[in-house]
Amino acid sequence: MKVEDVIRLIREKNIEMVDFHIVDLPGTWQHVTLPVSEVDEETLTRGIPFDGSSIRGFRGIEESDMIMVPDPGTAVVDPFHNVPTLSIICDVTDPDGVPYQRDPRRVARNAEAYLKASGIADTSFWGPELEFFIFDTVRFLNQGHHAFYEVDSAEGHWNSGREGGLGLTIRPKEGYFPPSPIDQTHHLRTAMVKALQQFGIRVEMHHHEVASGGQGEIDLRFNTLLRQADTVMEYKYVLRNVANQHGKAITFMPKPIFGDNGNGMHVHQSLWKDGRPLFYDETGYARLSPLAMHYIAGVLSHAPALLALTNPSTNSYRRLVPGYEAPVNIVFSHGNRSAAIRIPRTTEPKASRIEFRTPDATSNPYLAFAAILMAGLDGIKKKLDPVKLGFGPMDRNIYALSAEELANIGSVPGSLGEALNNLREDHDWLTEGAVFSEDLVQTWIDYKQKTEVDVVNLRPHPMEFELYFNS
Ligand code: GLU
Ligand code: MG
Ligand code: MG
Repeated sequence: MKVEDVIRLIREKNIEMVDFHIVDLPGTWQHVTLPVSEVDEETLTRGIPFDGSSIRGFRGIEESDMIMVPDPGTAVVDPFHNVPTLSIICDVTDPDGVPYQRDPRRVARNAEAYLKASGIADTSFWGPELEFFIFDTVRFLNQGHHAFYEVDSAEGHWNSGREGGLGLTIRPKEGYFPPSPIDQTHHLRTAMVKALQQFGIRVEMHHHEVASGGQGEIDLRFNTLLRQADTVMEYKYVLRNVANQHGKAITFMPKPIFGDNGNGMHVHQSLWKDGRPLFYDETGYARLSPLAMHYIAGVLSHAPALLALTNPSTNSYRRLVPGYEAPVNIVFSHGNRSAAIRIPRTTEPKASRIEFRTPDATSNPYLAFAAILMAGLDGIKKKLDPVKLGFGPMDRNIYALSAEELANIGSVPGSLGEALNNLREDHDWLTEGAVFSEDLVQTWIDYKQKTEVDVVNLRPHPMEFELYFNS
């Protein structure tokens, strides 16, 4: 779609308002809305000024003027407003039109260009699987120095197991996946899928997930890197709005409930060249090509630092613990869900792919996909061998391994602070070809350390009251 197509769409759909979105550094949408009378070809081409100093992770107050430049290909009618509204995602530039290097969409564009220029492949495909919880109510009790929250499940009280839901309540870890009426959130997920389709997003399926408390998953059809990261933004927006319309709250946070499965965002991916899939080889382990093996080795060898971008919240590391289908060890496997990389079974070359299971949806999808790609490409360039590097294959249940067996395989970082320290030491593979600027990497580390790690670490934890109050 070009600018003139957007103008035509505005006319055809009697659009009254146009909503312009940008992506901030942590990966959430920010927006301004213009009445359609203010939107013409020039606005759509030159963009709209905004104050970059108020956007998280962007510029300082002394150099705040920035421009959001609409990407016409992202225009879509947004069904969540009281008047016909068009939604467009924008790139960010400085007032002279120079692309802003901390704009997450810029990094995704850089990564796609870098892939093409490498000659290794021309296209990468991405299939993220976002999991989420639906709650009836959420109460934040934020009193001065203390912040607590309480949630009520959309399916009754999961821990008591019997209350609510006429005795139909799903118990912890038993949510995958009985039908209605036991699955109390089926209708809401269906409404979400229909709204996603209205947004032009192709959905492959939806289902209840393993956890109680209305955990769900809606799977997206694979797409190219930038476009799929845009889709993740739209997906979160659509699901939040549908939940809100039904008086519910939804969260993608990795571990909202202790003692039950968390929310992952597994990322399926593959590389293609001239319309041919590059990860397939009938004779290889799990039908993978040597190139796919190098890619796996790249992702796993940078995983301790990579997780600072794919699992970038303090809560991320409460999910990456044994026993909940989340990966804990830095190994690959054919089919094993406890490994960081799983190779789904397929005999079809075009379906050949790897599933990186550690990421979660608190990541910025543009930065996360670009970083995973850069790690994989580094492995290809260096011809790394995942077997020689001790990354497997591990085809046994890792949760059941003995301490001696576990001693030989690497673990994911235990905290965001640890992952950020690893990233500080190991990020040349990101700045290769100026895909990520050094400034962005340093800003990310500082931002996450100061506004998240320190903020959480400095506060007394509710559990500490139980442990220490009477000690
Ligand atoms: N919820 C699990 C996780 O935290 C994954 C369940 C699944 O295999 O889909 O990654
Ligand atoms: Mg799942
Ligand atoms: Mg999966």
